[in-house]
Amino acid sequence: MKKILVTGGAGYIGSHAVVELYQAGYQPVIVDNFSNSEESVLAGIESILGVAVPTYRVDCADEAALRGVFEAEPNIAGVIHFAAFKAVGESVQKPLAYFQNNVGSLLTLLAVMPEFGVENLVFSSSCTVYGIPDALPVTEATPTKPASSPYGRTKQMCEEIIHDVSGAPDNKLRTILLRYFNPIGAHDSAKIGELPLGVPNNLVPFITQTAAGIREKLTIFGNDYDTPDGTNIRDYIHVVDLAKAHIVAVQRLLDHKADETVETFNVGTGNGNTVLDVVQTFEKASGQKLNYVIGPRRPGDVPAIYADATKAEQVLGFKTETSLADSLASAWKWQQTLKK
Ligand code: UDP
Repeated sequence: MKKILVTGGAGYIGSHAVVELYQAGYQPVIVDNFSNSEESVLAGIESILGVAVPTYRVDCADEAALRGVFEAEPNIAGVIHFAAFKAVGESVQKPLAYFQNNVGSLLTLLAVMPEFGVENLVFSSSCTVYGIPDALPVTEATPTKPASSPYGRTKQMCEEIIHDVSGAPDNKLRTILLRYFNPIGAHDSAKIGELPLGVPNNLVPFITQTAAGIREKLTIFGNDYDTPDGTNIRDYIHVVDLAKAHIVAVQRLLDHKADETVETFNVGTGNGNTVLDVVQTFEKASGQKLNYVIGPRRPGDVPAIYADATKAEQVLGFKTETSLADSLASAWKWQQTLKK
């Protein structure tokens, strides 16, 4: 079994990727500092796989500690780097923490990987790098625009750092940058899923918590945008579909099939849905009536963005499989397993 280091492997997307990696015949090794994830995730992963996944409680930005993981785990074939802070609003409040953590952990990883001859990297990027795009859907060739938050800027900077490092003369690093659209839902088993700390920032956990009676009502952030029903458009991708994109990307790197030292792929469904589409689809999929109100716009929101998913399909053979309704049903099933 080829060994793949998964930083942030106890997080939302990371935990689903760990499961898919193992089921695809890889040996995942988790590195996580549990700053925004819970130990219970490990039990969920173990319950799905029937085996425990080796896990190191290490902060990726701690170079000595990260080196210790590479020493303890010889023959790592590649790294999937998920570990990062991810809340747009929080990044405006604590920009320095975002740069230190998101940029810092990448720099540390890029310094340590070559010491151990590890050359393959899959990096978690985001459609936030496109800013407010001029045309939709966005392709990988769509020019990036100023990001609307420090969070988005960390993703842009990390992409640039990877390009620069890869361009150095004796560099051996090969990277696939995956630009995620909006991950939602949970594993079919409902043993792992999203675990927001406190009041959720993201739409779908807010919806499921409202349906579960934890929140009184959902506030839709604006209905006066230039979209069919006035609410924002996003591309919502099931988290297991998104996780599977990482397995294809890892395989491509290990097979030496990448055309360039850095390749970039959008990972979305190619469909744009409004916030009201999501609310109505959730109501149908769950049989729950959702209490919601229309509120003011949320600062920093991009009016509309969704992926052109053609490149991932043509080059990686990757296509999403789960509908919006099924994704939302899985989110609801997961919510019902959580204590209030
Ligand atoms: N949204 C909303 N109410 C909420 C949370 C989110 O109306 O309580 C909207 C938000 O304005 C955006 C969409 O849902 O249009 C997705 O937001 P989310 O924070 O989940 O992801 P983002 O696209 O901002 O990364």
